[in-house]
Amino acid sequence: MNAHNTKAFGTEAATAPLKGMNIERRAAAPNDVEIEILYCGICHSDLHAIHNDWGGTTYPIIPGHEIVGRITNVGESVTNFKRGDLAGVGCIVDSCRECDHCHSGNEQFCENGWTVVFNSPDKKYGGFTFGGFSERIVVDANYVVHVPQTLDLASAAPILCAGITVYSPLKHWKAGQGKNIGIIGIGGLGHMAIKIAKAMGANVTVFTTSQAKAEDAKRLGADNVVLSTDAVQMKNCPKQNMILDTVSAKHDANTYIDLLKVDGSLVIVGLPSEPLEIGASNVVHGRKSFSGSNIGGICETQEVLDFCASHDITADIELININQVNNALERLEKGDVKYRFVIDMASLKNS
Ligand code: NAP
Ligand code: ZN
Ligand code: ZN
Repeated sequence: MNAHNTKAFGTEAATAPLKGMNIERRAAAPNDVEIEILYCGICHSDLHAIHNDWGGTTYPIIPGHEIVGRITNVGESVTNFKRGDLAGVGCIVDSCRECDHCHSGNEQFCENGWTVVFNSPDKKYGGFTFGGFSERIVVDANYVVHVPQTLDLASAAPILCAGITVYSPLKHWKAGQGKNIGIIGIGGLGHMAIKIAKAMGANVTVFTTSQAKAEDAKRLGADNVVLSTDAVQMKNCPKQNMILDTVSAKHDANTYIDLLKVDGSLVIVGLPSEPLEIGASNVVHGRKSFSGSNIGGICETQEVLDFCASHDITADIELININQVNNALERLEKGDVKYRFVIDMASLKNS
């Protein structure tokens, strides 16, 4: 199989709009699959990386890590996929495969550093990885998951990052019947967290800064909705076993620690670029924890896809064409999306 010149969409600078670019995808190695990308979600991490919010972005950057597509070619050693299969790719496309965490299926904690699907040094092939805002991608089959046929493909794409990122901590902290679970922020991650926590059987309380989203939260499955800018609503909120914080910008996390039961945990998955300050007494009184969680391993990504298929869960999406990406990024910056943008990649092919 030959290397392919591939249409992609990315940018050469933090402040420049995204535009059409050409990249090269490698020829499929024996354990690789080649995927025609059908849909790709837009996560706030794409936006942070484009803007170099965390430092370390290398340009040009081709974002995109919520990828759903169809296998167009398989290398000779691949046994778990065949041409024509549906396939999903999330954040992780390689890891050391030797450390304890890789062996236990937690590649996101790989001691030797895992390879991100976009803007990551490619240890094996050199250069930097290019993400899902592109026509096709070539990935080692060990890092590719099966997308259940019953899911709507466009609205399943966000499960590959938003879905796994909230499923993993909800499962780890044992969200389920009899548990009060809070979710902060109704964005891509937050709205998936409401649906998944509810399907796990938890009593779900949502905290939002947006009145319009508060009115929509019950439709998404929330049992209680708290407008976090309203001090009375915050004071009257029942205490929570765990609160999952999906906020993308600096905010006061102590306000939410105050809403935890004894031994409760505030678990952060949002990645604001500025540090959050935690008052010592806020966690000391009530033996509370402030913790974090990072996406999930490949095996657990397959698990969340299967969980979503069995509970009929997908993201609420706004499907866009590639030429609407810059407008979508501007709206995402303002929290103005219900609740995930997904790009129909056929529009790139035909552009
Ligand atoms: P998103 O769709 O933009 O949602 C973030 C939500 O946070 C907004 O919709 C808004 O909800 C709330 N928010 C934004 N600014 C706020 C502020 N200043 N104060 C209070 N609330 C605010 O983003 P996303 O794609 O869900 O990603 C959320 C964060 O998670 C990002 O930082 C992203 O990089 C990170 N992330 C982490 C992982 C991981 O593995 N840990 C994986 C994926 C993403 P309301 O309007 O409801 O208030
Ligand atoms: Zn993401
Ligand atoms: Zn490893």
